[in-house]
Parts: sequence; C-alpha cells; structure tokens
Amino acid sequence: MSEIQTYKFYAGNRWHKPSSEKYFESEDPSIGKVWAKVPDCNEKDINLAVSSAKQAYYEGPYGKMHPAERGRTLTRIGDIIAKNAERIGQIETKDNGKLPKNITPSLTSWQTESFYYYAGMCDKYEGRLIPSEVPNMHNYLKWEPFGVVALILPWNSPIGTLIWKLAPAIAAGNTVVIKPSERASCSTLELMKILEEADLPEGLVNVVTGFGPTTGAPLIEHQDVRMISFTGGTKGGSAASLSASKNVKPIIMELGGKSPQIIFKDADLTLSVNGVVSGIFPVSGHSCISGSRILVHKDIKDKFTQNLLEVVKKAKVGHPNDTATQIGPIANKEQYDFILSKIEAAEKRGLKLLIDGRKEQKSEGYYIGPTIFDNVPNEDDLAQNEVFGPVASIQSWDNEDEVIKIANDTIYGLAAGIWTKDTNKAIRLADKIEAGTVYINNYFNASTQSPVGGFKQSGYGRENGWEGMQSYMQTKSTWLATNPSQPDPF
Ligand code: NAD
Repeated sequence: MSEIQTYKFYAGNRWHKPSSEKYFESEDPSIGKVWAKVPDCNEKDINLAVSSAKQAYYEGPYGKMHPAERGRTLTRIGDIIAKNAERIGQIETKDNGKLPKNITPSLTSWQTESFYYYAGMCDKYEGRLIPSEVPNMHNYLKWEPFGVVALILPWNSPIGTLIWKLAPAIAAGNTVVIKPSERASCSTLELMKILEEADLPEGLVNVVTGFGPTTGAPLIEHQDVRMISFTGGTKGGSAASLSASKNVKPIIMELGGKSPQIIFKDADLTLSVNGVVSGIFPVSGHSCISGSRILVHKDIKDKFTQNLLEVVKKAKVGHPNDTATQIGPIANKEQYDFILSKIEAAEKRGLKLLIDGRKEQKSEGYYIGPTIFDNVPNEDDLAQNEVFGPVASIQSWDNEDEVIKIANDTIYGLAAGIWTKDTNKAIRLADKIEAGTVYINNYFNASTQSPVGGFKQSGYGRENGWEGMQSYMQTKSTWLATNPSQPDPF
C-alpha cells in the first residue's frame, strides 16, 4: 500500500502544521483511495498567511520592488513551472484525475506564457496626464495595486486557474493568499514546494487550505484582504460575494456556465461534430465552458446526432495514466454522485438517453462516460443547470430568432459555439449571444492575451490580457495645483 502524504500550509515562505491539528483527505479518483492529508486551516492560520502577505506588501521586499524587478520574479516563476511541468501534472492527476496530456503540455507552453506576458507588462503600466478643465492644475492618473489579494480556486483545473490569477495579481504589485479547493488542494501545495527554488520574496505567495465556509469565507472577510479573485460555481460565488460585501471589497468572479453549441444546417458536419464532442467530453465536462447544450437545426438533427454518436462511442474511458485513455475519471466522489443523480433524475422525468455513460462505471474509481439526452426542452433542469460532467442535451430549432432565444434563455453567459459556413450569419449571431466568449467554427481556445469572463450569472471581471491586469489594480487621481490659490471660503 502506498504511503499517505501529509501536507502543510504555506505562509511567509515557511511550511506550517494547521494550528487545529486537523486535516482532511484527498482521494485519488482513478482508484477511489485516499492518498493525501491536507491541513484544515482555521482563522489563526489565515491570520498568519494574511499577515505574511501584508508585511511583504507594506514593508517589502515585494511591495517596495521596482516593477521591472517584479517582472524578473514572474519570469523566474514561469521558468520553474515549465521545468517542473511533469511533476505538477502528476500530482494534479492524482488529486483530480485529469489526464496528464491535458495538464503538462500547457504548463510548458501557453499557461506558463502568462508569467512572461505579465512580466513584460509590469513596467509598462504607465499612468496619464488628464487635460482637466480646472485651470492651473496638473491632474495625473496612476495605476496602483490593492495590497493583499485572496485567490480562491475550483477543483477542476487548480493550476490552470491559479496561473490565470497569480501572474496578473503579482505583476500588478499585489501579494497573495491562495485558497485552493478542498477537493483538489495538493497541486497548489506542490507548486509552492517547486516555487521555493525560484527564491521568491518572503510573503509574496501564501497558501491556506480548507473548506469554503470555514477557510474561504474568513479569508475573504479578513480586514487586511483588499480584493478577491474567485473561480468556482455560481452558488459558491454568490456566497463569496456576500462575504466580500460585508466590508465592501471588490471581487471578480469566474463562475459556471451552460454553454450552447449552435449548429446551422450549412455547417461542415465533420467539423461541427468533432468540435462539439471536443467541447465537452475529453475533459469529462469538467470545464466551465463545456458546450453542454447542443442546439442543432431541425433539418440536420438526425444526421448530426447519428454522426455525433458514432464519434462518441469510440471514446476510451479509463485510468488517467494509461496512455490509451481519452477520457479519465470524474474528479471526486461528490461530483460523481452528483452527476449520477442528475442522470437518474433526467431519466425519471422521461428524457430519452441516446448514450448512457454509466456503462463505463468500474469496480474502483469514479468513471462515467459520455452521456447524451435527446429532445431536452429548454426549461428542463438538464438544459438550465450546470452538471459539470460528461452530460450533454440535444435540442432542435427552426430559425435564427428561435435559436438566439433558446441560447440566451439560461442564467448563464460564459461561452457559446456557432457552426456555419456563412460568416455573415455567424457574426450576426455572435453579436446577439449573451456570453463572454463566442467561438465560430472552433471551440475551447484560450490564450493569455485574450480576456475571458462571464455575462449574467457566469460572473464579472475579466482574466487574461490587458483587462486581466486591470482587474488587480485601481486608479488614483492626483491633483497638483501649479499656481496655488485658495480664497477664504467665508
Ligand atoms: P465551488 O464554488 O464549490 O468552490 C470554488 C471555491 O470556492 C473552493 O475553493 C471553495 O472552497 C470556495 N468556496 C465555496 N464556498 C465558499 C464560501 N462561502 N466562501 C468562500 N469560499 C467558498 O466550485 P467548484 O465546485 O470547486 O468548481 C466548479 C465550478 O467552477 C463550476 O461551476 C465551474 O463552471 C466553475 N469554474 C469556472 C471557471 C471560469 O473561468 N468561469 C473556471 C473553472 C471552473
């Protein structure tokens, strides 16, 4: 039997046991067995992490560092993550079952690119002189960091979501306290071990682990935390925003989705089928932008569905470390039970199953294969609420106005896919879709340079790109009188 790994939390560049001496367990979802124990951090631990970040910000070294030097710190982080991509990937696979091929290559390419992109931006965030109408005034605008920023992460892509937050947050000059998900904390802790090699300024990056209400909420509410970046579900996000509102803190929210894939009758059939399948199943639907609502024109629905099933049936569901595996396990037991309950409930409501992923269940571990329901009414739970699993619904439609209405008729607005050979039509439609990202004849692309975020209850604020940096900064307007004169007001 393999040994259980016991982690500590990280504050002030040192490792600490939780003051409560309590730990929670992490299961390897590919076999359903506990492999690690993670600190259950309480307020005392949070105070330690926040005070380390606060000291680093106000007393230095990080808060006093020239922006160009901050940039060099980010470059070192990028280099070390790329060098250790495989090790980080292995831990994440053990922690949440994600396939190594969906983690490691991105840590040597576009995800680590975030650190180099924002490294370059550190000393280029120039202010400006405002041509104010007030006479004899020199009014200038500066961009400043917030101070201590809390980064709250989900379980589906801990390292990916962390990078999207960490790079711009520290590039902007903030120091951070990270709280990974209680369902996948280990890759973040392992990352801190790796970052120790990068000789980071003391207190710049701190990590506390624990549950949402008992570690996440007190971290958000801590009086010295000045801004929060949250990625998670809409329910968790709503609770977090209530916490943030208690002492009026800015929070950016990257939340859930129920993204439509819109297939026109002139779409390239092979391209659209492959795009729709790739847009949900290879990551077991564990992506916020999973295209889980397949909206296909009525004239091609039968043909499209037939081709879709042919492709999906070939998928090999299995252990993440088996190189032949194309779809790994569900990331954790809670999510596995949740997805099964959603499939059972949909069946009970009389929805027609075209392919049932439960046939992939195994004697150990948490496996569910691609699952597709047919003719799902848009008001049904399956079309309205996020499953965050390999479950898709098919709906048909007749005309452009109708499909726009269906596509927009959920509380979410994260992403949408449009499949057609008619570019004019695609652009017309993209303009009318309420979503932060729209893909035309492709899906799932993202890059450091391009801002992402949600409309409606999929969140607010943006990550990546120029906007991603601004999310972690605030402006200051300074008025300098060039010919000071102040008459007696009375
Ligand atoms: P979740 O909301 O349950 O938890 C996310 C994080 O918030 C965890 O660290 C959790 O401990 C913390 N949290 C929960 N309740 C809290 C509270 N009351 N106060 C403070 N912190 C709290 O989400 P999850 O199940 O971990 O992640 C899956 C969700 O994340 C899905 O809905 C998915 O769509 C979404 N997601 C969104 C994006 C995006 O960029 N929009 C990316 C990845 C995942």
